Amino acid sequence: MNKKQIWETVLGELEVVLSKANFTTWFKDTFVYSYDDKTVVIGVPNSFTKEWLKNKYNQQITEVLKKQLPKLESIEYKVISKNKVIEKEEKIQKITNTNSSSNENYEEAPRTDNYQIEVKYTFDSFIVGNSNRLAYATAQAIAKQPGKKYNPFFIYGGVGLGKTHLMQAIGNEMLTRNKNKKVLYIPCEEFTNEYVMAIQNKSVDKFKKKYRNADLLLVDDIQFLSGKEGTQEEFFHTFNTLHRSGRQIILSADRRPQDLPEVASRLTSRFAWGMVADIMPPDLETRKAILTKKSNEKMLDLSRETIDYIAENIESNIRELEGALNKIKTHVEIYQKPLSTQLVTEILQENINNSRTKNISPDKIVKTVSDFFSIEKKELLGKRRYKELVYPRQIIMYLLRNELNFSFPRIGKELGGKDHTTIMHGVEKIKKQIKRDNQLQNELTLIKEKLYI
Ligand code: ADP
Ligand code: MG
Repeated sequence: MNKKQIWETVLGELEVVLSKANFTTWFKDTFVYSYDDKTVVIGVPNSFTKEWLKNKYNQQITEVLKKQLPKLESIEYKVISKNKVIEKEEKIQKITNTNSSSNENYEEAPRTDNYQIEVKYTFDSFIVGNSNRLAYATAQAIAKQPGKKYNPFFIYGGVGLGKTHLMQAIGNEMLTRNKNKKVLYIPCEEFTNEYVMAIQNKSVDKFKKKYRNADLLLVDDIQFLSGKEGTQEEFFHTFNTLHRSGRQIILSADRRPQDLPEVASRLTSRFAWGMVADIMPPDLETRKAILTKKSNEKMLDLSRETIDYIAENIESNIRELEGALNKIKTHVEIYQKPLSTQLVTEILQENINNSRTKNISPDKIVKTVSDFFSIEKKELLGKRRYKELVYPRQIIMYLLRNELNFSFPRIGKELGGKDHTTIMHGVEKIKKQIKRDNQLQNELTLIKEKLYI
């Protein structure tokens, strides 16, 4: 009997008693690394599988193994790549094929020329509280008299706090007053992409004309100008042209102008010429007001107690409050049960835990993933592009994005200075893969469990 036969017998028996998902998740790429009649060493692909097998399946594995090795006393689990072992043992002289990892297909990001502003982002649907009062008042003043007092208007604040909503509200209001005005909204990343394309297609003139003819130019998430010298140069001229002729510029960012890294000071100083206003996370009263208004809009009948409960437990931002309401709404539509606070508590369990534990650090994410795949941190943050490194790296990108809401450039920096397009690609890839890949879903669940312990 050889190692392979022993393990195949074990797998054969386990496959029958375990669910397919569990079986493939936990036993894929496992093998008998070595054995004698008392000990069996099982090779596993990563330390999470190791722990999982040890904690959940050790007894079952032992029982099945004992049928073949009656004197068996202990099982050890060792993190080791099956392929490496097989390669060695079979002494296959393969020329390592590095192409598969370095030649990933980079998909072209979809490009759209015109970003529409959303009709629903109006002043009416924007709830005012202490956290956004100044930004709101300025926005209203600008909508009445664009290009006058507050030019440019620079709004900054964290994710999901209403920057995009507020800047688009100004655009909507301006169009309501005069539908012939040229209101141009563009996320900064797209502005950059468009500019690069314009250079490639030799259509820079058209690009310039488009932006320099706007009556109101809204550039969202301007922090993405970071490090993009060419685009900064172009934007500098666009800015000057518009400003000189009294046309309104509105910018949003995740931080103050002077804190934007790698943005030329001639730009950051201009950004502060007009009005700089921040939007802070909403306080309790505002969160309640938002929940009351939005649940009414969604025709969700929530009791005072329930609203209070959500407002007290989801504190981070307004997008998360909306997410919570949407989740409740879906639940109501499916189950048609009356909504008690108890039920809402259950529905939102995950949202609430998430929002509470957001104090995890990027380091912790890197460390957890590094432990999970048994890959050293310095390899993960390094430049080598083996498949074994690229995949966990992309998981890190995904987690930094989804758990900590980091911007793409910031993730790039955390990962040792990677370009933000690489990060976008990585995050997208994992996002797509999750939908059809059980293994990945399980891995992510486990990594998150570790992360939030
Ligand atoms: P940001 O651009 O700051 O990340 P968004 O403007 O995209 O945030 O806002 C996230 C969501 O929260 C949007 O659906 C927006 O309509 C809603 N929202 C944000 N602030 C408010 C507010 N003060 N009143 C009502 N809805 C808000
Ligand atoms: Mg936004």
